Amino acid sequence: MHIPFNKIYYTGREMDYIKEALESTNISGDGNFNNKVCSLLKDQLNSSNIFTFTNCTHALETAMLLLDIRPGDEVIIPSFTFASTANAVLLRGGTPVFAEVEKKTLTLDIEDVENKITNQTRAIIPVQYGGIGCPMDEIMDLANKYNIYVIEDAAQALGSTYKGKALGTWGHMGCFSFHGTKNYICGEGGALSINMEDEKIINRAEIIRQKGTNRQEFNMGKVNQYTWVDIGSSYAPSDVLMAILYSQLQQIDYIMEKRKKITETYIEKLSKFLVHGKLTSMTNIPEYFNSNYHNFYLRFNNQNHRDYVISQLKSRDIDAYIHFVPLHSSPMGLKLGYKYGDLPITEKIGETLMRIPLYTAMSEEEQDYVIMALYDILEVL
Ligand SMILES: *Cc1c(COP(=O)(O)O)cnc(C)c1O
Repeated sequence: MHIPFNKIYYTGREMDYIKEALESTNISGDGNFNNKVCSLLKDQLNSSNIFTFTNCTHALETAMLLLDIRPGDEVIIPSFTFASTANAVLLRGGTPVFAEVEKKTLTLDIEDVENKITNQTRAIIPVQYGGIGCPMDEIMDLANKYNIYVIEDAAQALGSTYKGKALGTWGHMGCFSFHGTKNYICGEGGALSINMEDEKIINRAEIIRQKGTNRQEFNMGKVNQYTWVDIGSSYAPSDVLMAILYSQLQQIDYIMEKRKKITETYIEKLSKFLVHGKLTSMTNIPEYFNSNYHNFYLRFNNQNHRDYVISQLKSRDIDAYIHFVPLHSSPMGLKLGYKYGDLPITEKIGETLMRIPLYTAMSEEEQDYVIMALYDILEVL
């Protein structure tokens, strides 16, 4: 039996909605399905300013534009993240400053963030890893103390909460992804939640999204024609994609519930291996968090054990992947002047962590197969 790492889950309504979108008068940005998606996201996140995007990368780039990040500005991000978090800063000419993550949640270590704050620091981008995030009240306290912005990279975290409040809505802005590898998908898609009541920023987000034009004011009948008013790009997703996303978001709770059950089974069945010291930790949900159960990871005491377990799973036709090659020690990180050894905790996590299959439609039989294989492998590790 082949167990893929991820399998896209379709709700069954996608085709009907796509057809409806194709038959409507607008398949470009900001059509009917876009409006429906925005309204579901507003309810889900309890946020009044939601903008859909072509992807989360573009939402992050827009956030950096909205903060007017420019050369000389520093933005603190974890090294344990995807390239998009750093690129968003670099594309504005800013400097990404890499901080450590802490071992329990694999998200920013607040103490290390504070150590890295300088007069140049403009923002912090916490990455809400695997659907579990930073203690956002602590990050916000720190940011307020130094008067800097917080932009959440909540690409993986739609549906997750901390202290009852949605991840992605604690910071000044939050960015989400609907890439095919995430929990709720439309192929390529994203969203930006602006969580501060700043009319100028909110209006500018719409302008940037609409190629630097005031098209939104035109759509709303506020002006007779629209024109070029600022810099911008083309970030509104096609309504065909929003049709897919709408069907997914209608099932947000069902999808979360399925993933929760799979996660709880892994924790229940695999925890006993934590005692022998080779498997050192696994996905856990700390107090105050509700996860969306984005992924499931195992961590080992050294890289050899991790690599061995991946290869043993592979030989049983089960896909398991590492996550992430830390950005500071990647080829681009080295070009920026970082070197291996700069962030030892992050490096160790990058070398010892692996993710095992977790997808919404995973059957009990499929999960049993993965667990049995892990029993075989871990018992003699
Ligand atoms: C997936 C992901 C992104 C990029 O999202 P896209 O929608 O593919 O642009 C950014 N940051 C993190 C942490 C991610 O996991």
